[in-house]
Amino acid sequence: MAKFDIAIIGAGPAGAVSAKFLHDAGLSVIVLEATHFPRFVIGESLLPFCMNVLEKCGLVQTVIDQAEKAAFQFKNGAAFARGDQHCSIDFRDRFENDGWGTTFQVKRDAFDKILMDAVTQAGVDVRFGHRVTSARLADGDCQIDYKNDAGTCGTIHAGFVIDASGYGRVIPKLLGQPNNATMLSRRALFTHVRDNITDATYDREKILITVHPARQDIWYWLIPFADGTSSLGVVYPQDGATTAPQTDETALFDRLVGETGLGPLLSRAEKTRPLSAIGGYSVTTDQLYGDGYVLLGNSAGFLDPVFSSGVTIAMYSAELAAKTLIARHHGHQPNWENDFAQPLGAGIATFKSYVEAWYDGRLQQIIFNQPNQDLQLKRMVVSILAGYAWNMENPLVAKTDRYLNLLHELCL
Ligand code: FAD
Repeated sequence: MAKFDIAIIGAGPAGAVSAKFLHDAGLSVIVLEATHFPRFVIGESLLPFCMNVLEKCGLVQTVIDQAEKAAFQFKNGAAFARGDQHCSIDFRDRFENDGWGTTFQVKRDAFDKILMDAVTQAGVDVRFGHRVTSARLADGDCQIDYKNDAGTCGTIHAGFVIDASGYGRVIPKLLGQPNNATMLSRRALFTHVRDNITDATYDREKILITVHPARQDIWYWLIPFADGTSSLGVVYPQDGATTAPQTDETALFDRLVGETGLGPLLSRAEKTRPLSAIGGYSVTTDQLYGDGYVLLGNSAGFLDPVFSSGVTIAMYSAELAAKTLIARHHGHQPNWENDFAQPLGAGIATFKSYVEAWYDGRLQQIIFNQPNQDLQLKRMVVSILAGYAWNMENPLVAKTDRYLNLLHELCL
């Protein structure tokens, strides 16, 4: 009976990055993925910080080499609009002197496949069309059951299990761990368009966040790709986690495009994907690790789409977990709380403060009024928006709420 050091559930960014780190360190790894790639998933605007993680696990050059063919859009910042207010930030104007300041906007079907192809080529045993159905977990002796596309059931034996199953949340569900809402329930409607944008002032190298002029809790993303298409989505407060668009939501989506002022920019846009919906996504779980398992990325929880932090958090959680497992492989007793949960949670708390300040209006006021003519303060804000939410040398990371309130007071 073959036994792997590590079994990974899910082949999204968290699964790919953890697999690559662990395999390169000499551990035997298997990845079980329910679907076949390429497959659609939302989450298309990356942050520069995640390029550092991709670089450390030897995947960044693969992404760069394939960027043009896959129509990945070079990204250097974010632009914001609300009524007649417009501003933008450039991620390269950061607090840190080292690390990546640019990244890409990616169609996730292509991006996730490129990462997983590289992981497979490196020698990891990757099995697509294998859905994990149950698990018995005990450190050193885990068994996970799967059913594959042919209807065959089987069991994988591994010393430890990484749950990188994203919205599938396989282990939390199997263990009966409740979803805790991290914030107010919101809903997103989204599609892809051939944008046909002719406005010469439109900057394709930035995600465009457009806030409803009368409702600070409703905002649109426009994420351009390099082939003339864009991802377009709206987020608004709404209960319920249904994934199929409701009957009136197409009309709502189109009406809001007009109300936010995006209408002229997108007057010639044509939808290339049906409208999709996702709700109730801001959840977390109490227990990020346990006897024989750890949860990564969205399986552990998700905050909110507004600052595009999801893939970055997923990849960084993979790096921290892989480091802990590699040290353990070399005989060090892991301390999952100190080595994984706490350091990961520190950056997530920073993002969470930013997301809360966005929806209660403080951060929107800071971004649109830019009171902080102090260049250094501005760089500290930009750093977090670029994903550097774990850099404790940045005072805005170490004391996020205090500085956010200070900056906001300067706007009043
Ligand atoms: P995933 O990418 O979801 O991968 C999980 C994989 O596990 C999937 O391939 C799935 O098929 C597989 N799986 C599930 N169940 C099983 C099973 N039982 N057995 C085997 N395999 C299984 N993030 C950003 O960084 N930028 C954005 O612009 C952004 N926009 C977003 C917009 C919205 C509206 C939402 C809701 C989220 C957005 N996100 C964004 C977040 C992003 O979608 C996720 O954070 C990210 O995809 C998480 O990666 P992951 O590897 O944890 O999971």
